[in-house]
Amino acid sequence: MDVLSPARDLLATGPLCDNCLGRPFAERSFGLGNAERGRGLRVALALADDDDFSAGDPANCWVCEGATARFDEWAERAVAAVEGIEFATYQVGTRVPPLAEENGLLLREDAGLDPEAGEPLRKEFNREVGKRFGQLTGAEVEFGRPDVQFLLDLEADRVEATVNSAFVYGRYRKLERDIPQTEWPCSDCRGSGRDGSDPCPTCDGTGYLYPESVQQLTAPVVEDVMDGVDSVFHGAGREDVDALMLGTGRPFVIEVEEPRRRDVDVERLEADINAFADGKVEVEGLRRCTHAMVERVKGLDASKRYRAAVEFGDEVTAEGLAEALEALDGAVVEQYTPNRVDHRRAAKTRVRTVHDVAGELEDPRHATVEVHGEGGLYIKELISGDEGRTEPSLAGLLGVDAVVTALDVLEVEGEDEPFEDEEFFLD
Ligand SMILES: [Zn+2]
Ligand SMILES: [Zn+2]
Repeated sequence: MDVLSPARDLLATGPLCDNCLGRPFAERSFGLGNAERGRGLRVALALADDDDFSAGDPANCWVCEGATARFDEWAERAVAAVEGIEFATYQVGTRVPPLAEENGLLLREDAGLDPEAGEPLRKEFNREVGKRFGQLTGAEVEFGRPDVQFLLDLEADRVEATVNSAFVYGRYRKLERDIPQTEWPCSDCRGSGRDGSDPCPTCDGTGYLYPESVQQLTAPVVEDVMDGVDSVFHGAGREDVDALMLGTGRPFVIEVEEPRRRDVDVERLEADINAFADGKVEVEGLRRCTHAMVERVKGLDASKRYRAAVEFGDEVTAEGLAEALEALDGAVVEQYTPNRVDHRRAAKTRVRTVHDVAGELEDPRHATVEVHGEGGLYIKELISGDEGRTEPSLAGLLGVDAVVTALDVLEVEGEDEPFEDEEFFLD
């Protein structure tokens, strides 16, 4: 295709800058910028026609009205918008005034070109300002989920900067009972801590039903070190408030919103959290991770290993217990939604596998039972039978009442693969 004749037609529409002249040919000659394409066409036309050469002037360009002369300025403004904020990746977007977009279509139409020929001004802006921003900051462009992203609003003459969340993965152990995983606002005052003009009597004015949570004992430290504005705790499921989380701990991700720092020393962070949590909660294996790790932690099928202290309503023999446990080992259990579970959840029967189970009688009325079960298996009900709603159960097999007096989680591991996949870690 001849490029000189469409270029001649484009120039006949009115004064154009080099970028706007070159942009309809943006798909040609990889390695050139639109300004170089435009200037090249201008030079070639001047030589072909033996005309005097006159350079393009953005100030007079009827298509962009001088916008292409301001790439440097926009890049500098973007840099200023994230001053003092740490980031490694970025993305630039541009909101082009509707009039300039319209002009771009008219330009091509008037010259008899496809209205979409080349690329739109928006795309050139993103690339040219993005390139300059990268040179000024040393950051890498990233189209997925960058650390910072910019929207250049040309009409409003404004840079909108968004600082995306940072994420830290780890495993926690909960070493004291009666600590929920996440904040538990008081249901009477809905977390306000007030009862009219008095402090709420249910929560003593704290606003929380439990004064501390795994979240409150860990996330504020991460938020503080990363200098963010808020934080969110994402756990791989949760144990009951009165259960301990022991052994290798439970995977979690702490998300820090609008962090000013990201590349934090995770070993030091781990020590800081453990000092702050004061033996009630412990964390280990902290690593900086991607946003995708949140979904992985929340969605990966995980099996759990539990240890339950069991009390019987009548005397049980060691042989009787061994027989009942053998019957439960590998059993497929049907559990109708337990009474104690959130009543807003739709009642249904779930089917879960007991991977393995073992136990020991402490005395005729007490036993310790360890269960390795598929994710979602209700352990308290597996022991008690939940008045016939769970089948089979230890109580049902023994023919005596059985209740869990203490429940500890010993292990939370991915059913088919470990949670810790290198692809989800930043370093
Ligand atoms: Zn222009
Ligand atoms: Zn209250």
